[in-house]
Amino acid sequence: MTVLRSGSATHVGRVRAVNEDRSLETSTLFAVADGMGGHAGGEVAARTAIDSLESGFSHDPSVDGLVDAVHEANHAVWERGRSDPSLHGMGTTLVAAGLVNTEEGDRLAIVNVGDSRAYKVHQGRLSQLSVDHSVAEALVARGELSEEEAQVHPHRHILTRALGVDPDVDVDVWELVPRQGDRFLLCSDGLTNEVDTEEIEHVLIETSDPREAAEDLVKLANGAGGNDNITAVVLDVVVGEALPDEPDEPDETAAAVPTRAKGAGATLAPDASNPSGAALMGRSEEARAERGEPVAATRHTPPLRRRVPRLITVRTLIFVLLLGGVVYAAWDLVHWYVDNSYYVGLHDGKIAIFQGRRGGFLGIDPKVVATSDITETEVPSPYQGALSSGVEEPSRTAAYNYVCNMGNLVGDAQPLPAPAKCPTPTSGSPAATVPSSPTSTASAVGTPIGMREGAPIGTREAA
Ligand code: MN
Repeated sequence: MTVLRSGSATHVGRVRAVNEDRSLETSTLFAVADGMGGHAGGEVAARTAIDSLESGFSHDPSVDGLVDAVHEANHAVWERGRSDPSLHGMGTTLVAAGLVNTEEGDRLAIVNVGDSRAYKVHQGRLSQLSVDHSVAEALVARGELSEEEAQVHPHRHILTRALGVDPDVDVDVWELVPRQGDRFLLCSDGLTNEVDTEEIEHVLIETSDPREAAEDLVKLANGAGGNDNITAVVLDVVVGEALPDEPDEPDETAAAVPTRAKGAGATLAPDASNPSGAALMGRSEEARAERGEPVAATRHTPPLRRRVPRLITVRTLIFVLLLGGVVYAAWDLVHWYVDNSYYVGLHDGKIAIFQGRRGGFLGIDPKVVATSDITETEVPSPYQGALSSGVEEPSRTAAYNYVCNMGNLVGDAQPLPAPAKCPTPTSGSPAATVPSSPTSTASAVGTPIGMREGAPIGTREAA
């Protein structure tokens, strides 16, 4: 026979406009969800998860039932986010504790996905049960970051697991013996990011009423900045199992160190006979339950290794630097090539000089370097086709010369803006070559050229 007493508090905080946290307190089920996502997404995600969890657990109040309820909650959030574009990308954390009956007696099943937390106060000592599913915590678990560094790590808010992101999710689950006098805390990161563990422990030990304790914790978080929504559910085992005779298991307090829990490490291998993958309690699991370690998680392999990038080794760094050098050099070459390519074409109905390749090259669009006064309609018809697709020239000077010569054809001696200076069109001037004609037959170019007085007809005809 186990009797629980609980109290909770939630607050929007001092910065956010909306409280996207949600909590649940029934006689046997307690939960905190911290929703995230734009618009109404966070609120909807947290509410959907809590409602689904409550309904699922009420149908099957067992450890398996609680884990299944988390899976259903995940699916419900995912489905809503998928079907409603305004809710797309929403998600939520979920930490919950459910009182269940097993053959061995009453148990408290605790489940977690995300970075809301479950703590336990046992004989005046606070220990953290859950492991955050955050990038920072994954680095701590692998010994690449200290707990202190994780507290200020820029990626501490980036979750590696949340409800509603994928159709399936890994769930960490613990099965604990509810010892009389034990106290549990479920809370969102709005509390733990603002208030350090010692202060939380102090409040939980000093304030006997669970609701008062929850309210005090929220007040502390607001006093420390209240940068996020804050939610705390405090749960007391008023009547429960007596303490075992033997001295308290050292792991009860060691559980405060996140490396112990290996929430993902407790993942059972895929097992067809146990599709939910949850809580197959054997003797060793029983022992783990006593120690407050996770007994099992669900069937999927932990995503941490897949999703968290390895820290950079020297070899990787050298490789990346070399690769970067090669890429940089290649990109430089591409730019050199593009920057040294010119063509004459049409821009806003006028003849213009472009730098770059016609139609662009590797995503680098050509840019107009000079626009002439010559309009498209002025251009003699044999040149119009070529100009509209672009006439490539070997250099900028050659492109200027082309435009100057076109200017001569249409009677505009200085078609280009300063500082470009067209050479005085004198017969025989080496710069005054006639633009190459698209049709390039003498008769086709002959006509327009012949119409121009003072045009370099001589050179052309002499050739
Ligand atoms: Mn939060």
